[in-house]
Formats: sequence, structure tokens, C-alpha cells
Amino acid sequence: MPNAQCPMPSPQSLVPNPQSHMPKHLSLTALSNIRLVATDMDGTLTRRGKFTPALLQALEDLAAANIKVLIVTGRSAGWVSGLSSLMPVAGAMAENGGLYFPPGNQKPVVLTSIPDLAKHRQHLAITFEKLQTQFPQIQESVDNRFRITDWTFDVAALSQDELQTLDYLCQQMGWGFTYSNVQCHIKPQGQDKAVGLLQVLREYLPDYSPEEIVTVGDSPNDESLFDRRYFPISVGVANVLEYADKLQHQPVYITTAAEGEGFCELSSYIFQSFHIPN
Ligand SMILES: [Mg+2]
Repeated sequence: MPNAQCPMPSPQSLVPNPQSHMPKHLSLTALSNIRLVATDMDGTLTRRGKFTPALLQALEDLAAANIKVLIVTGRSAGWVSGLSSLMPVAGAMAENGGLYFPPGNQKPVVLTSIPDLAKHRQHLAITFEKLQTQFPQIQESVDNRFRITDWTFDVAALSQDELQTLDYLCQQMGWGFTYSNVQCHIKPQGQDKAVGLLQVLREYLPDYSPEEIVTVGDSPNDESLFDRRYFPISVGVANVLEYADKLQHQPVYITTAAEGEGFCELSSYIFQSFHIPN
């Protein structure tokens, strides 16, 4: 059933992204095949940092229609463990592809190979201290203590140049780096949302073809989810345009509305597509 609390968009409202190579018009028939939504959380499901009743209703409606929603976030293992068990979703991934939390409070899976977790955290702490010698203003994020695979500090007022320098310094020290609208992440090289999601799809959800999956996001740490070699149908909520010139991979479509309202718009659109004749 369409979500009564989300305004129904007109067929033109989910527009092709002018920044990318894409069909000229949105194909509703493409969305009519969607059976799994892999979505970022902060800035994509939230509105000004909170979940809204409309968002929770949209998640319930998708679940009722047997469309799985998988959260793919940069948030910590600790936070995602709690959140995923309380939300109407079919599982969640934390730390930008680092861990998978299957549905039903099953044991979480560490997706990145880390032989000694204690030593790994020590190395991350040392790396962060080194970054602080050049950037004394950076502060550990409040959820960093609940992390396993990566280390975070608040994105705060860091400029684009400073973010690029931090990226470079992390690479020099053998680490990866990414950032979202809320946090910067020092992470194992090669760990990203697409790598983690592809592993989860392969090992736990093998029945979904790429045409049945839509990926959704809003920030540079979602960039790999917009790589159409792996995810041919991707959507950016409108606030992704803030990073339009900084993304190597662009979403195929962009919603008219920003943040969680953009996700509701996509959800309504998926329901509309069910009524389009094939
Ligand atoms: Mg985000």
C-alpha cells in the first residue's frame, strides 16, 4: 500500500541526474522490479538528524510489500546493533561496509579481515594522534568507542582542502579515508559500502539480481553505491547535489525532496511503479 503520510510525487518529480550519463527519462518499469532497497541513514533516512513518523511508515509499507530495506551506514557497530534491532528493516551494515547485522538479532559479521582487533584499534588510535598533530582541532566522535573496524572524528568545519589533506595523510600511513555529512572515517584500505554490500548480497541474499536492487545515499561515503557497474539503479536524495562535483560516481536519479523526505518520495515512486503496465 502506498504510504498515506508521504506526499505522492508526480511522475516527473524523481528526475534523472543531470551530472551523469543516464536515460533521459526515469523508467518506472525499472523501479517496478525493485525488491531490495540498500540505503544510507544519516541525511538519507533522517530529517535534520531525526527519523520522522513518515519515514518509519514508509519503511513499514516497504516491508509489508515484501521489499527488503537494508541500511548501509557509516555509523558505528554499537549504534547500528541497537538501531537495526528496533527498526522495521531486513538487516543493516555498519562502519561503511565493515560489519553486517543480519535480521533477527543474529550474531554480527565482521566483513573486513582483521586478524587482531585489539592491535587494529591501537593502530587506528596512533594514526588519529598523528593526524591531530597537523589538525589539533579534530575531535573523536562520540560513537567512536563503539567501533570495531574504523576510527571517526567529526567533520565539523573542515574545508574541502583540509579533507583532501587528511585523505592524503591517511593513504600515506596505509589507511583509507572517507567522510559524510557528519563524520570523517579512518578505515582499512579497500573497505567501502559497495564492497561490503556486494559481499552481503553474495553470501546472504543471493537471490537478488542487480536490476532488483536500488541503492540510495547523500554523501561522498555513498559514492561506491552509485557505481553503476555494480548497482545500475541508484538514487541520491536532493541534498547529494551539495557534493555533485566531488563524486567520482553519480547517482542515476535524484529526488526532488531532500533527506528523509527524498527517501519517502522514492518509496512512493516504487509503489506507483507497481501500477505501470509492463
Ligand atoms: Mg549520509
